[in-house]
Parts: sequence; structure tokens; C-alpha cells
Amino acid sequence: MTGQNTAQIYVSLVIPCFNEEAAIPLFYEETVKTFSTTQPEKEFDFIFIDDGSTDKTLEVLQNLAKKDNRVHYISFSRNFGKEAAILAGLQAASGEYVATLDADGQDPPALIPQMLEAVESGEYDCAGTRRVTRKGEPRVRSFFARRFYALMEKITDIKILDGARDFRLFNRKYLEAVRSLPERGRFSKGIFPWVGFKTRWFEYENIERKTGKTKWSFWKLFLYSLDGITAFSSKPLTIASFMMSTLLFIAAIGFTGFIIIRKMIWGDPVRGWASLICIILFCSGIQFFITGILGQYLSKIYMEVKGRPHYIIQEAV
Ligand code: UDP
Ligand code: MG
Repeated sequence: MTGQNTAQIYVSLVIPCFNEEAAIPLFYEETVKTFSTTQPEKEFDFIFIDDGSTDKTLEVLQNLAKKDNRVHYISFSRNFGKEAAILAGLQAASGEYVATLDADGQDPPALIPQMLEAVESGEYDCAGTRRVTRKGEPRVRSFFARRFYALMEKITDIKILDGARDFRLFNRKYLEAVRSLPERGRFSKGIFPWVGFKTRWFEYENIERKTGKTKWSFWKLFLYSLDGITAFSSKPLTIASFMMSTLLFIAAIGFTGFIIIRKMIWGDPVRGWASLICIILFCSGIQFFITGILGQYLSKIYMEVKGRPHYIIQEAV
């Protein structure tokens, strides 16, 4: 697939869509307007990925493709998730430059010309976007998101900027690098910084979704963050094995010393079942915790080893 049509298409836009029937037409209009006013000479195409939508997304895409041959779409046989959708788009993209962005208007296509300029200059391989405010987002969510980025910074070797979005534009060198990662448990926020190269950042204020509603519940985000951690760090395993055992060892020595001294000073009327229960509960709690961490990695290995395809296409134009 690599390199096909690279001469014709200048920029390919990869847009994952899950139940975005209302957002797609707005997005399409805005993008076409941006290109025709700012870069009329540059050929671009759309690669929409219908990620198993249950609304009329596919129909909307079919109609768009009929009237505009720059519109391509890939429709999945079911919902495979945004990561799979982005991957499918990247694998199909033939442009000399490729951009990934959401359909809901939160990633303004109006930024594309600036981003393109940064990468075209050859000084940068990728243009990334970052929202500097989290206006309009529930407080609790912002709080946990910040904690997550701080934690990732500590336990991984890659730097994931707080507020960095999946809205990016990059050259083919960068694209090939991202495509070369075969993993199933994909976490784009980590994959992008992991491949390296030079990224120029564009900052903007958070924009609220134009229509429809977010596909991410708090629980889904929580699971996604676990994916991110296990995909890019094995530190939790180190913590589980060394730190916990060292901690318990020190606690055990300290407690034994305390019991010996108490016995010497006060003698030993039999007592202490309450503290014994506490210790047993504490230790078995930690054991469950550690087994849980092992289980997380094991389940990821299991999914990778199966080697299933990332997605299944039912229809594509
Ligand atoms: N999306 C997708 N598959 C999913 C969930 C979301 O393709 O399973 C798409 C969605 O249509 C949108 C983008 O991914 O274009 C980001 O989703 P959303 O706007 O719900 O996330 P948020 O912006 O709230 O983080
Ligand atoms: Mg969104």
C-alpha cells in the first residue's frame, strides 16, 4: 500500500466517526471551505472511518462520496474503537501529508494550513495540537486527566503533553513510523511521542463539541488510561515486585521489634488478635492488588498473542 498515489494527493485527512451523522456534513463544509480559501491549489482527500455507527453515519458518507470524489470511506463491521479507526485511516492514506482529526468540530480544520506550513518547511515532521484549557469539561474529569498525565510522565520514558490531542498532521516518514507499530493495544497519545521526530505544537482553547455527544464515559476513559499505562510502562510490575515486598519486609521487621520490646517490658498477656486480623487483611489486600497488576499485563499479552486483525471492513470506497 505504501506510496500509492503519493504524487496526486497532497494531504489526506483521516477522520474516525462513530455516530456522527449530524457532525459530518458540518465538518465537510468547513474543511472544504478552509482548503478552497487558503490552499486552492493543493489536492486533498477525506478518509472517513465509520466505526460501526448505529445511526445514519454510513448513509451520510455514501451520499457525500457520490457527489464528491475526494470523499473516501471505510466502514467497519462493528465498533472497533477510535484507535482501530485511526489505524485503518492511516493504512489507507495516500497523501504526501496526513492529518488525523475528529469529526465533531473539536479539532478545527482551520488550523490545518498553519500546521501544514510547519511540516512543509521541512523543519518539523509533525504538527501536534494541544488544548490549553479544559473549559466545558466536568471538573472531576479534568482533575483525573491531569493526574493521569503526571503519572505517565513519571512511569514512562515518553513525554505525553497534558491536553495533547490526536489532531495531528505529519509527513510520510512519520506516517511510516506510526504504521510500523504492530500492536493491538494501541494508544495513540503514546505512540505519537514514542516514534520521536520533531513536533511543532499548536495551542488552542478547548472547543466544545458542535453536535452529538461524547463517546467517552468516565469508566471508558479509566480503562483507556490503564491501556496507556500497560502499553508504555512496565513500572507497575517493578513497583509490585520490589517496592511492595521491601515495604512489607521493613514493616515486618519493625513490628517484630515492637512485639519483642513490648514483651520485655510488660510481659505477654495473650492479645493482639485484632491487630493480627488487620495485618492479614492488609497483606491479602496487597496480594490481590499485585495479582491484579500481573493480570492486566497478562491480558494484554493474551490479546497480542492471538494476533487478531485490528478491525474488519464491511464496505469501503
Ligand atoms: N470515535 C470512534 N470510535 C469510538 C468512539 C469515538 O471513531 O468508539 C470517534 C468520534 O466519532 C470522534 C472521535 O472519535 O470523531 C472522538 O470522539 P469524542 O468526540 O466522543 O471524544 P472526545 O472529543 O469527547 O474526547
Ligand atoms: Mg470530541
